[in-house]
Amino acid sequence: MAEQGKPGIAVIGAGLAGGIVARDLAAAGRRVHIVEKSRGAGGRMATRRTPEGLSFDHGAQFFRAHGPDFGAEIAAWAARGLAAPWGADGRFVGAPAMNVPVKALVAGLPLAVGSAVGAITGAPGRWELTLADGGRLGPVAAVLVTAPAPQAATLLAPVAPALAEAAGGVRYAPCLALMLAYPPDALADAPVPAQRPDHGAIAWMAEEASKPGRATGAPRRIVVHATPAWSRAHLEETPEAIAQALLAEAAPLLAASAAPLHAVAHRWRYALVEEPVGRACLWDAESGLGAAGDWCLGGRVEAAYDSGRALARAVLGEASR
Ligand SMILES: Cc1cc2nc3c(=O)[nH]c(=O)nc-3n(C[C@H](O)[C@H](O)[C@H](O)COP(=O)(O)OP(=O)(O)OC[C@H]3O[C@@H](n4cnc5c(N)ncnc54)[C@H](O)[C@@H]3O)c2cc1C
Repeated sequence: MAEQGKPGIAVIGAGLAGGIVARDLAAAGRRVHIVEKSRGAGGRMATRRTPEGLSFDHGAQFFRAHGPDFGAEIAAWAARGLAAPWGADGRFVGAPAMNVPVKALVAGLPLAVGSAVGAITGAPGRWELTLADGGRLGPVAAVLVTAPAPQAATLLAPVAPALAEAAGGVRYAPCLALMLAYPPDALADAPVPAQRPDHGAIAWMAEEASKPGRATGAPRRIVVHATPAWSRAHLEETPEAIAQALLAEAAPLLAASAAPLHAVAHRWRYALVEEPVGRACLWDAESGLGAAGDWCLGGRVEAAYDSGRALARAVLGEASR
């Protein structure tokens, strides 16, 4: 049962870390309010749908469990049809789309989408969030920031300088992504195998239809990720210029016999954590301010999961269990 009289807990960000911390706190009876700046939950476990109905997992490509906790979570997702194995080596993907497990975590919880938090103000026991559109949320007893580290550092700096300093030391590699759709007979391989080509510009490419639960009909959708070096070199170009340049690199690898029907780039400025904090989460029990995200432990889905769980335990006073 939720503790009705008590001020709630605000969770900033509805990626996996935010989804996990919100789910665990709600399961323990805490009132949570999730605030997400984009149009839906998922974060970098992302799925883009175009107006033409094409769907691309243009962020994280797969996840894998190294520890038993995330392994049990994946098994539970798979049992509910929210995730499915993909190929060898214990790889899983969200099913039928990458963002599905996160959407399921926050289903039924209070979630404001399209709400970017601009500032945290107030004092311990009565924090308030100022939203970029001028709205406000609060007072709340605790604020948990699960945005990428540079954004978390900016939000925390005025109210929790020590936490902001820890977040401020995190380093990321960017990733420029390209979403391609081709006429069915334009590609020789069927489907294009997931691959990490030995290539200066291209780090990864995979065909959506090679993943479980995806539509297999035409057109054929390919996601391409640029290498960190190529992404850094082209980061500030327009999306149109990035799409054109990355297509020029990818087309020979795909051996396409026709031009793509769709070629749209996405800029992941904070894609892959290179230097994490090295602690499972950040939490200051006195102020009620904390943070979690893959950037606490390392740049993969499991790190976001472990960090979110650690923060929920810390908030509930169970850190030493
Ligand atoms: C291109 C790419 C490929 C990847 N491939 C893999 C892979 O194959 N395997 C793997 O394990 N990992 C991969 N990763 C990493 C993986 O996606 C991340 O580790 C994980 O999804 C991070 O989850 P998170 O909850 O910590 O952060 P995020 O998913 O980034 O969630 C943070 C959320 O906070 C929101 N937010 C930010 N600022 C605000 C604000 N001011 N107000 C409100 N909301 C805000 C954001 O919109 C976002 O939804 C990849 C990442 C990218 C970008």
